[in-house]
Amino acid sequence: MTDKPSSSFSLGSDYVYADYNATSPIIDSVKKSILEVLSKQILNPSSLHRKGQEARKILQDARDNVRGIIGALDDKEVVFTSGATEANNLVMKGMVGYRYVISAIEHPSILNSTCNPHIIPVNQEGVVDLLELEKVLSKLEGDRVVVSAMMANNETGVIQPVKEVAEIAHKFGAICHTDVAQSVGKTEVNMEDLGVDLLTLSAHKFGGIAGSGVLIFDKKLVIEPIVIGGGQEKGLRGGTENIVAIAGLSAALQDIPYLLSKMDEIKKLRDQLECELLNLASGIKIFGQNSKRLPNTSLIYMPKVRSDVQLMHFDLNNIAVGNGSACSSGKVEPSHVLLAMGATKEQAECSIRISIGQKTKPRDVEKIVDCWYNIYKMYGPRV
Ligand code: PMP
Repeated sequence: MTDKPSSSFSLGSDYVYADYNATSPIIDSVKKSILEVLSKQILNPSSLHRKGQEARKILQDARDNVRGIIGALDDKEVVFTSGATEANNLVMKGMVGYRYVISAIEHPSILNSTCNPHIIPVNQEGVVDLLELEKVLSKLEGDRVVVSAMMANNETGVIQPVKEVAEIAHKFGAICHTDVAQSVGKTEVNMEDLGVDLLTLSAHKFGGIAGSGVLIFDKKLVIEPIVIGGGQEKGLRGGTENIVAIAGLSAALQDIPYLLSKMDEIKKLRDQLECELLNLASGIKIFGQNSKRLPNTSLIYMPKVRSDVQLMHFDLNNIAVGNGSACSSGKVEPSHVLLAMGATKEQAECSIRISIGQKTKPRDVEKIVDCWYNIYKMYGPRV
């Protein structure tokens, strides 16, 4: 498994894609499985006829695959959703009667999907404050509480101490959820080891197609559906399952050992990029640099140059980078993640995210560094 090339995607020989955290290129095995499903004309898994059974088998295999790769035991339920956004919404809206305690750096699908959550701050390195979590939970003792803390932040790549968060949550009788959308395929994810009760993932972050995700949760929990329909997915998610996307998700999961095997190489390239940039210019900052981070992610502040200006120049030079959170690109707003880490508004507005992946080459890193420095010389601070 680990020695095969995973993706033959190409965006053109001189195009550099450094926005893997926004979405990752669809890998070959996913394309193959999708085409197979399409060619077999596999239909509705709820249908009782043979074609329905074929579709049900794909669903069942995919569920087994999710369990095996993510380390979800038999006491867990696996529900397919339209993505991590919906899975997160299901946690935040479907667990009726609970109070919510979430970290300040959660994805908007957590942050904005419930009223008045208790927000746990992060430190300057982007790591959730566990003492504050204890304090808040001790005040809520006796209430039904869900704690949600993402495993790796989409903007900084900073990895959160989710296992400790879950232990603290359980000490106070709370339930613990984690969003691993950015972690799968970049770092080891095992639900049992993390000790969480609910977990969200998204296919297009590890080689699958967008519009497909999963919520895994402890069978003892009662969750109300937010999409009401024909009782699919154990009544938790109405609507005929998207078998094509789910088959793709399942295939992508099988490539995770390969993706993980590439991460040392990817980390070397990311570290080289950061080292070169830090040597080139003063005033530059890499957020979360001293924290445990995803090996592929770098959130870089360029003094005085707004991220949309940087992005445009990178784009003109055939380099795709991210503007903090891709989900909010289009709006130029300072990143809530950076503000939570104590960055100034100017720093939050002048930072770009570079997220590389298995197709990134050393010469791509050189191109990024050259382009970054040209932008800095053109628009950066005058000395
Ligand atoms: N959570 C995190 C941490 C993410 O990075 C994203 C995508 N940016 C989402 C949730 C939403 O995922 P999806 O696109 O599958 O809805």
